[in-house]
Amino acid sequence: MDRRVRVRFAPSPTGALHIGGVRTALYNYLFAKKHGGDFILRIEDTDQTRFVPGAEAYIIEALKWLSISPVEGVGFGDGPHAPYRQSERKPLYKNYVMQLLDAGHAYYAFDTPEELESMRERLKASNVDAKYDAITRGSMKNSLTLSEDEVNKRLQNEDPYVIRIKLPRKEEVKFHDEIRGWVSFNTSQMDDKVLYKSDGMPTYHMANVVDDYLMQISHVIRGEEWLPSAPLHVLLYRYLGWEEQMPKFAHLPLLLKPEGNGKLSKRDGDRLGFPVFPLYWQDPHTGDVSSGYRESGYLPEAVVNLLAFLGWNPGTQQEIFSLEELAEAFSLERVSKSGAKFDLNKAKWFNQQYIRKTNDSIIADELAKQAKAKLGDAYTKYNAAQIQEIAKLVKEKITFTADLWNYANYFFEAPASYDEQVIQKKWNEKSKIVLEQIAEQVSNTNLFSATELEQIYNQVLAQNGLTTKDFLQLFRVCLTGLAGGPPLFEIGQLLGKEETTQRILNAIPRILKNI
Ligand code: GLU
Repeated sequence: MDRRVRVRFAPSPTGALHIGGVRTALYNYLFAKKHGGDFILRIEDTDQTRFVPGAEAYIIEALKWLSISPVEGVGFGDGPHAPYRQSERKPLYKNYVMQLLDAGHAYYAFDTPEELESMRERLKASNVDAKYDAITRGSMKNSLTLSEDEVNKRLQNEDPYVIRIKLPRKEEVKFHDEIRGWVSFNTSQMDDKVLYKSDGMPTYHMANVVDDYLMQISHVIRGEEWLPSAPLHVLLYRYLGWEEQMPKFAHLPLLLKPEGNGKLSKRDGDRLGFPVFPLYWQDPHTGDVSSGYRESGYLPEAVVNLLAFLGWNPGTQQEIFSLEELAEAFSLERVSKSGAKFDLNKAKWFNQQYIRKTNDSIIADELAKQAKAKLGDAYTKYNAAQIQEIAKLVKEKITFTADLWNYANYFFEAPASYDEQVIQKKWNEKSKIVLEQIAEQVSNTNLFSATELEQIYNQVLAQNGLTTKDFLQLFRVCLTGLAGGPPLFEIGQLLGKEETTQRILNAIPRILKNI
């Protein structure tokens, strides 16, 4: 690559960042890392009407949580191109708009909202695509139809205006997309987009192109929804004389609903029970609350890994990748053109893999927190080392750290009920005596450990002429109430001699009562 790789994530702070946006940020980050380049965060807040308080801080927090760290940008330290918030760059755009006006590539338009509406109505009535373009602009109020005097008068009067790009009537605009190959649009399908408003604010298109140029962006990697804007951007580069410096474009595939029919929305998340936002979000206007991946118990490494695979694959069987490994393996060539279906089970699977990889002590801290929230200080019947042992046993079983308490509560509290199916299937006339014998031997032993418990168990079962495997599930139900779980004798060791004895003895009459 001949040019230094500089890419940017350029969200507009109009609400919570959708995971599709996070994926865009991630791919930009990976691409920059892979090529030893720079990843920049630019906040595109020129549309003040869509500004949502808290959205910018949310974006920054989400990127920090996922370690998708820009080297320059809002919230991450200024680089040579500061400021990185477009509203703070306002004075900078005017010159470029003037340059377009002077060269005849843009014009003033004074149409009122009512006039625009009536133009649209008129065109719709005659079944014509309603847009402000090479044909319709001839009958509207703009510097192409009004006299120079009239235009100057209106400008001096400070009448509100916009500046529109003047597109050729019918011209093919072709550009190469790194993911889609050659893409072509015709200006006859496009409209004379507004570039600038009389309040001195550029629109997205103008600010985006000027900033990509000034910030020396080499590759624009963004969502597919921006593909129709790309020809306009290409023309802006051309008209501003920047074609040589024009970044390469890569438009990422859409994130689709699990069923594959359309774009993944918050409603799908609510319907199917998964978050579409990285972090908790409360909409400041509606008060609506949405859980995030973080609050739902996903680990940041799992979210990075699962998002990386929504639209990209390494071409090998490997599925578990750290951020560094992803950066190493990533390439735009392996990004697919077609939409990527969100798969909830796969998302959970990724999380499970990362929970298994998480240090026992981290899981233990979380378990202690949850136990304390449920039981208050009573949870301290286990010391730190024992809680770590419990964490180690249950972490193999859980999908989310939030599930820890559900999978570990029986370590702290004796079972309130006993799995009925197991009892029905396994309880017989010998069960009571076997359990009593185990309880007695456990209470009499001096040295109590998993090995000891297993020995007692095997011995009692043998004495009663029973196979050890057959009785084990019933024994588990007596100790934990549940049909399945981590290795049982290790559970017994953690419960300790007294508690194990007590649980067996308590279980017998309660089970018999229910049979
Ligand atoms: N501000 C646009 C957005 O909100 C950026 C699109 C682009 O990357 O050019 O997604």
